[in-house]
Amino acid sequence: MNRNNEDYRAPPIPALTKDLLEDVKKIFKTTTGTPFLIPTTGTGAWESALTNTLSPGDRIVSFLIGQFSLLWIDQQKRLRFNVDVVESEWGQGANLEILAEKIAADRAHTIKAVCIVHNETATGVTNNLAAVRRILDEYRHPALYLVDGVSSICALDFRMDEWGVDVALTGSQKALSLPTGMGIVCASPKALEASKSAQSVRFFFDWNDYLKFYKLGTFWPYTPSVQLLHGMRAALDIIFEEGLDHVIERHSRLGKATRLAVEAWGLKNCTQREEWFSDTVTAVVVPPYIDSTEIVKRAWKRYNLSLGLGLNKVAGKVFRIGHLGHLNDLQLLGCLAGVEMVLKDVGYPVKMGSGVAAASSYLQNTIPLIPSRI
Ligand code: PLP
Repeated sequence: MNRNNEDYRAPPIPALTKDLLEDVKKIFKTTTGTPFLIPTTGTGAWESALTNTLSPGDRIVSFLIGQFSLLWIDQQKRLRFNVDVVESEWGQGANLEILAEKIAADRAHTIKAVCIVHNETATGVTNNLAAVRRILDEYRHPALYLVDGVSSICALDFRMDEWGVDVALTGSQKALSLPTGMGIVCASPKALEASKSAQSVRFFFDWNDYLKFYKLGTFWPYTPSVQLLHGMRAALDIIFEEGLDHVIERHSRLGKATRLAVEAWGLKNCTQREEWFSDTVTAVVVPPYIDSTEIVKRAWKRYNLSLGLGLNKVAGKVFRIGHLGHLNDLQLLGCLAGVEMVLKDVGYPVKMGSGVAAASSYLQNTIPLIPSRI
């Protein structure tokens, strides 16, 4: 990525973009979707998904389970959609029983979209996307299915085509481990069709402008970050070399190892049920006499370790261990050792080495040989 700007209209950049657009579909597990690589962040990708497919006043069902779903709902309301919020306690997943009731009752098809955050990064909760599709199919409901995959796509099992997702999105800084700055949005044929009649005001995010330039073979309606495109090429190559399924398995191992460490420390996972455990982030609940913000501050100041803060409702109550992206098993063990030292610093009676031992015993039994070194 460390290179000078290049003319994005000169032939190498369209050629690079063409291959990226083809290859990025693989991380969404789609052959029929149309991807957009937008100079923005996850928040802009949300806006792109909503404004291209919906009109002001449209009724949408949206699940509130943590800070990021809360922010997406805030955006949905400010964009003037009629948001039917289904709220769960933070630490729980989306309430799909209520979704089933709403879908079953909606014979007139007033619900135009169901919006869900696949992995709620604030609480470490992963929602069951296949189950949402089953509910829509059971009632033959035509609502669009919009998924925030910011902290899941390319790390957790995600199948756009199989699960009938209409718009899926992520950001460059998460599982691709790139700098922030690219929103990656993928639209199903049904979503593209919806974009033809969607009345929401949009300019920067208008898929139609992208599609015009796709047809011309120049790809960009405005200037892309050429550096990020080269970065994305490298990120995808690294992922494909490991194999997407192996990447997903690695995240599953890292998630499990982290949870074993948390258990060994005698602490609780914020996520209330195993079915929702996230393999990309673990939110750890601290005892009431400890402020989790102190843990995060101290980890950074003393051990150069970046933990995640507790956000909003869980501020001070949880800290988060991210295990997403270009991260290997030994790096995670280093992080877990760091957490143990911080826990000791703030007066939690942790048995040093307990979490690392639980995690490393599990990893030692499960780490595969490195394919290129067999
Ligand atoms: N959605 C989820 C699940 C996130 O975790 C985040 C950010 O962490 C966002 C959306 C917002 O993304 P961004 O900060 O890139 O705008």
